[in-house]
Amino acid sequence: MRQQGVYLDYNATAPLRRQAAEAMVEAFSVAGNPSSVHGFGRAARRLVETAREAVAALVGAEPDQVVFTSGGTEANNLALSGPAGRPVLLSAGEHDSLLKAAPSAILVALDASGALDLEALEQALDQARETGAPPVLVSIMLANNETGVIQPLERVAELVHARGGRLHCDAVQAAGKLPLDKTRLGADLLSLSAHKLGGPMGVGALVADRDAGLTPLIRGGGQERRRRAGTENVAAIAGFGAAVLAARQDLAEGAEMPRLARLRDRMEDAVQAAAPAARLFGADAPRLPNTSCFTMPGVRAETQVMALDLAGIAVSAGAACSSGKVEPSHVLRAMGVGPLEAEQAIRVSLGWATREADISLFLEAWKALYVRRSAA
Ligand code: PLP
Repeated sequence: MRQQGVYLDYNATAPLRRQAAEAMVEAFSVAGNPSSVHGFGRAARRLVETAREAVAALVGAEPDQVVFTSGGTEANNLALSGPAGRPVLLSAGEHDSLLKAAPSAILVALDASGALDLEALEQALDQARETGAPPVLVSIMLANNETGVIQPLERVAELVHARGGRLHCDAVQAAGKLPLDKTRLGADLLSLSAHKLGGPMGVGALVADRDAGLTPLIRGGGQERRRRAGTENVAAIAGFGAAVLAARQDLAEGAEMPRLARLRDRMEDAVQAAAPAARLFGADAPRLPNTSCFTMPGVRAETQVMALDLAGIAVSAGAACSSGKVEPSHVLRAMGVGPLEAEQAIRVSLGWATREADISLFLEAWKALYVRRSAA
């Protein structure tokens, strides 16, 4: 069932790419268990390993470094596994799948632009080293899901490695939008999620150095080189692999991200022209080309999201709403934004199917709401 309307919520999930859907349908007709040695099993195994090669190539890693998981959340949780008592450092803008999974982590501040405060990171690293605990695990996302702000991972890696620590990078939002090279970034571990780049929901991967010392979260059989038990979700993994190839092709052709950046910039210029007091977040830092987070002065994000939905336009509140309840964004709060303003921020995120007309319809509806609310 194709839904009508304008979809501008790619950072929540991207529509399934045609190539991924086709690969999944084909995989559903393969009967074997990838662990079985017979021909049926070997056919399923081939699908899994082909996808593993595609995912590894996406981030410049080796296929045996890829552990398929149920998504970005599980990949992040698995990245945190390791020696007991190891201190964990996270940026204050990380996704809840890290913040909630490591409640005693030391949080490193963001600056007003959304970039990581590197001096604060250095201080926290030095303090963690003084405790005499096992070497620290630092987890910093490459691109933020709410603002799109890109963190200086290579510099972070230098600081972390100089102190004997390990670096995990949540690259869930960056994958498919930026070229990725795990080695160049300096990440020892890197998380991916299929549905953010046009693959199916419920599958992702942790790409981990061979000596990462992971402790499986799910125990049982010896699948995924004993790092994640359970029969692989073959069709979803095949869809993930196909989506990765399609996303890489878009990136290699070089036109897609500049196209999205142009649409995004046109939208932001029009928003600022219509509402000069609207505040744009993250625009002073390097940002993903598809992401925009801004306020409608005086109007709560929930009101905007609902009014836009009535007009057939899907965006999200720039806040966490995974439980249906909208909380002011911890990312914006970490950037020093006050609670009232943070509650007025929406996130508009574009992707491969977004067209000029979608942005025009969004602007028409957003401006009409602003005029209505300003007159009220
Ligand atoms: N990390 C980031 C930055 C995300 O944006 C998300 C999803 O919103 C996740 C992790 C979790 O990924 P998944 O939905 O595959 O569990």
